[in-house]
Amino acid sequence: MSVEDVVVIGAGIVGACVARELSKYENLNVKLVEKELDVSCGTTKANTGIIHAGYDDDPLQYPVRARLCSKGNKLWHEMVEELNIHVNWCGSIVGATDDEEIAALELLLKRGIANNVPDLKLLVGEEARRLEPKLNNLKAALYAPTEGTVLPFEAAIAIVENAKSNGVLPILDAKVVGIEQSNGCGFIVKTSAGDFKADWVINAAGLYGDEVSKMVGILETNNGVDIKIRPRRGEYWIFPSEYGSPVKHIVFSVPSGATKGIVLTPDPEGSLIVGPNSEELSSMDKEEKATTRAGLNEVYKFVVGKWGPILPPRNRCIKNFAGLRAEPQHGDFIVEGYKKCEGFINAIGIRSPGLTSAPMIAKEVLNVMVEQGFKGKVKDKWNPYRAPIPRAISLPYEQRRRLVSGDNRYSHLVCWCEGVSEGEIVEAIKRGARTIQGVSFRTRAGLGRCQGMSCQSKIVEILSRELGVPPEKVLLKSKGSEVLACRIKDLVGVSDESN
Ligand SMILES: Cc1cc2nc3c(=O)[nH]c(=O)nc-3n(C[C@H](O)[C@H](O)[C@H](O)COP(=O)(O)OP(=O)(O)OC[C@H]3O[C@@H](n4cnc5c(N)ncnc54)[C@H](O)[C@@H]3O)c2cc1C
Repeated sequence: MSVEDVVVIGAGIVGACVARELSKYENLNVKLVEKELDVSCGTTKANTGIIHAGYDDDPLQYPVRARLCSKGNKLWHEMVEELNIHVNWCGSIVGATDDEEIAALELLLKRGIANNVPDLKLLVGEEARRLEPKLNNLKAALYAPTEGTVLPFEAAIAIVENAKSNGVLPILDAKVVGIEQSNGCGFIVKTSAGDFKADWVINAAGLYGDEVSKMVGILETNNGVDIKIRPRRGEYWIFPSEYGSPVKHIVFSVPSGATKGIVLTPDPEGSLIVGPNSEELSSMDKEEKATTRAGLNEVYKFVVGKWGPILPPRNRCIKNFAGLRAEPQHGDFIVEGYKKCEGFINAIGIRSPGLTSAPMIAKEVLNVMVEQGFKGKVKDKWNPYRAPIPRAISLPYEQRRRLVSGDNRYSHLVCWCEGVSEGEIVEAIKRGARTIQGVSFRTRAGLGRCQGMSCQSKIVEILSRELGVPPEKVLLKSKGSEVLACRIKDLVGVSDESN
């Protein structure tokens, strides 16, 4: 049996799910190539984190989205259990405040039924208000009990960890700069970290998917749509759990235009995420992730105008952030292979609901490979499970005692806001964290009320010690993001020996 080489480009949620899916086959040798220093550094790290039910996507206008979303939702219900991903299966409502909006809910219900979304219910009057009593003017609601929220960066990290344990090789800090086709014998993927031979290349490069597709001369989809990805920004507020969420469910308003609108989302940690708005950017602005005063105002004012004064005051917000949707020309996902370039598969234009659809996109990629002649031999011992990093503070006493007696660093609290111990941070570094952000995404250290004000210096010290680099070389997230300019000792001219 010959083994075929696969290079998956991009370690966002799509690349992660593709790598995990392909790791099930013993005749595939899978590399997951990512330009950043960690997985989940693109759109996957900054979105609402909703696992959508799938009623929103019009099957006539967006057939791929409509086909993959509700099935993706089902796969997430399995995946969060297998991989120990934090989730809040709180369900969602789309709230209507007048008759016109109630008519729109009926349309969404029909669409949901067409997309095979289970258990959708249209609730009117008191029944709707009982679900969300704090919302002003709520007249009816489309209730989707299968929706929930995850922390998308945690999810992508967990999926890659599992793929790795099943033989996938993640290669970070490796930007794909060119792809050569070697005379009908596959590809050479050229990266900043060396060249890799591949029989299959899966393009999951997010916002840069069009540029990667261009490297093999694929400029349009099989339906003749130009492959161009432009960024669409969405901005958010995060309010911490201590203020209590005003809503129990994910709350959408009736969608207007291209997006699902501004949403109230209780995340798995109890924080309330409010956003996003929707702002078209130029195709040159693929790194424009800054928040804006105007965008944040738009979000806050919309919620208060629509649902009443239910948000905590703005100064209680712990963080604002923005994410960039990878918007394709025709609005639908591009998941396909090409006759003129067999072996190259695009999984791009994955705007919302791409997080939800990712596990199904991975299956779709596999189907394309099979159509192009791949004959998979499933591994006898594929492992679907992944153990989480133990969260010492939330373990029952006896388990915590055992953990600490094995490694007493689990009793040294580093992040007081989120209750994260040194043992957890060391374990995160063992599992691949190379930056402060990498530690935060794996442990939540620094993501709480003080946003790292009190623990960041300690995290720098631990990263420095564990990675064997000087503290001033420790990075916040990407290359060039050192958090320390120099050591004070060096600044004042005191040598280490003089201590
Ligand atoms: C504001 C907003 C809200 C959203 N809310 C939701 C939601 O609630 N639910 C939902 O289902 N979906 C949501 N989405 C959509 C979802 O976030 C995306 O569909 C999903 O994250 C896309 O994942 P991806 O892997 O395609 O892209 P990315 O996460 O961007 O991953 C692509 C990766 O490719 C890497 N890369 C790029 N170029 C190269 C190269 N040349 N070489 C090597 N690596 C490269 C990048 O660094 C990146 O890590 C939202 C999106 C936004 C922006």
